[in-house]
Amino acid sequence: MVNENRIVENFLDMVKIPSPSKNERKMGDYLIEILKELGLEVEEDNAGIKNGGNCGNIIGILKSQGRKKYLFSAHMDTVVPCEKITPIIENGIIKSDGTSILGGDDKGGIAAIIEMLRVIKEKNLDHPEIVVVFSMAEEIGLLGAKAFEVEKYNIDFGFILDSSGKPGKIITKAPSAARGVLKVIGKPAHAGISPENGINALTVAAHAITKIKLGRVDSETTSNIGVVSGGQATNIVMPTVELQYEARSLSNEKLENLLKETFDIFSNVAEEFGAKFENEVNVEYPGFVLDDNEEVITIVKEACERAGITSETVSSGGGSDTNIYNNKGIPAVNLAVGMTKVHTLEEYIEISDLVKLAKILVEIIKG
Ligand SMILES: [Zn+2]
Repeated sequence: MVNENRIVENFLDMVKIPSPSKNERKMGDYLIEILKELGLEVEEDNAGIKNGGNCGNIIGILKSQGRKKYLFSAHMDTVVPCEKITPIIENGIIKSDGTSILGGDDKGGIAAIIEMLRVIKEKNLDHPEIVVVFSMAEEIGLLGAKAFEVEKYNIDFGFILDSSGKPGKIITKAPSAARGVLKVIGKPAHAGISPENGINALTVAAHAITKIKLGRVDSETTSNIGVVSGGQATNIVMPTVELQYEARSLSNEKLENLLKETFDIFSNVAEEFGAKFENEVNVEYPGFVLDDNEEVITIVKEACERAGITSETVSSGGGSDTNIYNNKGIPAVNLAVGMTKVHTLEEYIEISDLVKLAKILVEIIKG
């Protein structure tokens, strides 16, 4: 059923098309052609226009009578460097030539969806109503999924293909995340002549940092300051300091509480020192937690079983389009694609994993 040569060929074609975030046009046009060839109704939404990109989300609809509606989605954009990707096949593994990423994140997911559609057509399989979404600008804040008007489509279950790990791994929990700058504004003064007239922003920040929660806050929650920048010269009392901060939690409530506590501590400490605190931290995406007996999980587990692939449900530390769909009320899981060492020049994917993923998808629609 699943044709290894065909899926590999399609995957190699796609990784050779550069598609950095907001610049997915060529990839979008390639996919529009394929979806039309396979008999889907094709639409492009205005996510590109809304987000200042050159391509919207590409949507394909495969109609069916009287069955549930399934969403299959993978993102078109990749991280850089991706301008010239030369894939190499060695011992059943596809990798780049070492000068770029491979782009298996997320063209591995796209390849599996296309192969599933080809099998449906070739074997004339009975199937649920299928909505395929190839999203734009996932890597820079899930912009395509956020802009996608999913409520138009009455979807029952979502299957997002965008996780590293072996096919069979099902992400059923992912954190909400907040990110941004904590800014402390002190007062400059000559450090040698009149330091008492200044307020050192770094000193204020340091006091606050000793009081906030950083690192692993609890089993579901983390927080980090990753970049610190401030100051101009040793002879000036540091006037401002910017701390790039992020926090994540599987519990939206815990994240809110942590953020409030962090901001309150910075505000209070700044006030003590006569400094100011500006908070530019925003919640980037909401988290989701699916119960293990949710129907969408059962569908995938049973599909894996029929395909002879072991499945397991796990929790993720990162966000994906899956977060957005769950938050918009569609029970959705994120399925592992087999992509490995993503976002690095050593990225690779095993051909057998691409094939396994396509097999799982075919079983999902047969179920
Ligand atoms: Zn991805």
